[in-house]
Amino acid sequence: MLDATALQQEIGSDQFYGGLLTPKGAQLHVGKMVYGLATRCLEKGVAIFQHQPVINIDKTGEQSWVVTTPQQTIKAKAILIATGGSGPGPFNWFRRRIVPVGSFAVTTEPLSEELCASLFPGNRSYVTSKNIGNYFRLTADRRLLFGGRARFAVSNPRSDLKSGEILRQSLDDMFPQLASSKIDYCWGGTVDMSADRLPKVGEHQGMFYAMGYSGHGVQMAIHMGEVMADIIDGKSVDCPWLTTQWPAVPFHFGKPWFLPFVGLYYKVQDMLH
Ligand SMILES: Cc1cc2nc3c(=O)[nH]c(=O)nc-3n(C[C@H](O)[C@H](O)[C@H](O)COP(=O)(O)OP(=O)(O)OC[C@H]3O[C@@H](n4cnc5c(N)ncnc54)[C@H](O)[C@@H]3O)c2cc1C
Repeated sequence: MLDATALQQEIGSDQFYGGLLTPKGAQLHVGKMVYGLATRCLEKGVAIFQHQPVINIDKTGEQSWVVTTPQQTIKAKAILIATGGSGPGPFNWFRRRIVPVGSFAVTTEPLSEELCASLFPGNRSYVTSKNIGNYFRLTADRRLLFGGRARFAVSNPRSDLKSGEILRQSLDDMFPQLASSKIDYCWGGTVDMSADRLPKVGEHQGMFYAMGYSGHGVQMAIHMGEVMADIIDGKSVDCPWLTTQWPAVPFHFGKPWFLPFVGLYYKVQDMLH
């Protein structure tokens, strides 16, 4: 990681507000990565069951489980819960420990080469340091992808649209040069927040789990796949996220009724700092 001077040199002193530069930081297209990952899994003989939500899990013996979906039952030697914990299914214990929070993004229409070069000379990925902050980068077809929590709310089509409008406003405030650019896409999804925003890994009633990436799971969830394979094989691993005690979030029973208050708290913090 380089200090502020390197960043200042890259973007020019008149635009400099302070920050840190990670020269080896990279960006990726998550949809393409998931497609590539699934393709490699299939090549290795992994069975993928799409559109089959798990509705029940039964332990039928030592290293013997039966997983039920609406379409079929699947036998397994071991179970790893890696759903983010808050989705539908027999995951009540996890639901009391994971807070589902929406995360949202928009992309502009394709921008001119000149505009891109003047606004983002290093063509890097950027993230602001606020609690309710933003991240942004150019896509391969020169759109600005601009995301953030926007508001502490769940993700659904209506909520995504509302958050998209807030993102549009933040984008305009940060880049007045883009005020006349159209927004072509807006979307959202749910991230699995733990109370301390650190991943949680362990075993509950004989089922292994890895979750709670709190909005930073793209690379970490992939890495944890390898770590969990070793843990399930009984190998000794050095993993900082291993959790032996994982208390429930007080007054949280699955539906995050307190999100607006948490959002307000962080908003005030951002205003004060
Ligand atoms: C808009 C947005 C931007 C983001 N940006 C970044 C970023 O820049 N960097 C970063 O690191 N992270 C980012 N994240 C977070 C990242 O996407 C997650 O941390 C990551 O996807 C977690 O991976 P996972 O495999 O643990 O869970 P998920 O990707 O949530 O996968 C869980 C899967 O379990 C399935 N499932 C749920 N319930 C059941 C059930 N009952 N039966 C069967 N399957 C079930 C779900 O359908 C889903 O496919 C972003 C998220 C959003 C929404």
